[in-house]
Amino acid sequence: MRILRNARGSLVFIGALVCAVVISGTAFRATGQAGTGETVIQKAIEQFESSPLKTTALDKDIWMLSGDGGNVAAIVAEGSTLLIDSGVDSRVSELNAASFKATSRPVTRLVNTHCHFDHTGGNVYFGSEGVTIIAQENVKKQLSSEQNVPLIGLRDGRYPTQALPTVTYSNSMTVNQGGEKLTLVNYGPAHTDGDTIIYIAPANVAVVGDIFSNHFYPIIDVASGGSIDGMIHSLDQILAQTDQQTKIVPGHGPVATRSELQEYRDMLAQVRQRIKVLVASGKTIREAVAAAPTKDFDARWGSGYVPADVFVRMVFTSLIASRNTNR
Ligand SMILES: [Zn+2]
Repeated sequence: MRILRNARGSLVFIGALVCAVVISGTAFRATGQAGTGETVIQKAIEQFESSPLKTTALDKDIWMLSGDGGNVAAIVAEGSTLLIDSGVDSRVSELNAASFKATSRPVTRLVNTHCHFDHTGGNVYFGSEGVTIIAQENVKKQLSSEQNVPLIGLRDGRYPTQALPTVTYSNSMTVNQGGEKLTLVNYGPAHTDGDTIIYIAPANVAVVGDIFSNHFYPIIDVASGGSIDGMIHSLDQILAQTDQQTKIVPGHGPVATRSELQEYRDMLAQVRQRIKVLVASGKTIREAVAAAPTKDFDARWGSGYVPADVFVRMVFTSLIASRNTNR
């Protein structure tokens, strides 16, 4: 097991996919992009620490900063910048400099789309600078305790007080930033139990966090309350709130159109249905992986850091968890 110490002093434990064995009770070795001895998270961290930080203008007052973890959006007002997500902690100074270069305004507010380290890593830095941190209420609970996502090999330590959200909401809230109105919404558990989708108007931008990975298989953090059914439910709500002109900022990957979001949602729904059939017929998780239910999608969606077999395991685990809950 490899252990990384974050700048904030907490630990990210990188275990082999042997963690998946604990969940499934079966011998398992990754056969996808995360090679032997390399977890999904390890592969992701390597990517987040080495990719160039790229700035993309989405509107006259909105930018996307990408490369250092999850996508970050910066919205400028007269004397301030509001950031959505804060990347990984090791690159927060670089992120802050890139934000200032684009907006010429200091960051005064930060919204977290959810609790994961690649979206909240910069919270310690910004929180220590007095930046107001806004999130769905469950993000505060998640960051206040240890996080453990066995299927992808992630354990993350408790965040210090200054990194925690100082403003929280339950279902929705509105934030004005310059000429833009930001509507923050939680549609219930999806990627985690504390996801925020941000609709920005009049710019017509939607920042949707890790509910959408463009274009690769997503992580479904069942351990943090996420579920495949919740992912699809949230995606249906986002599709209902957007149009063909909406610029959709995914948690990872390039800016997308509504059509691309629809294609992703339909892929998730089909994979869910196929795995639901396998669960109903009494297959084990290992047999479900062997059945390769994502086979025809893998060329399009399987090239990210979540290999097809890990994705199948997450969907299977989610369906079992919801079946047990509904009993
Ligand atoms: Zn995430």
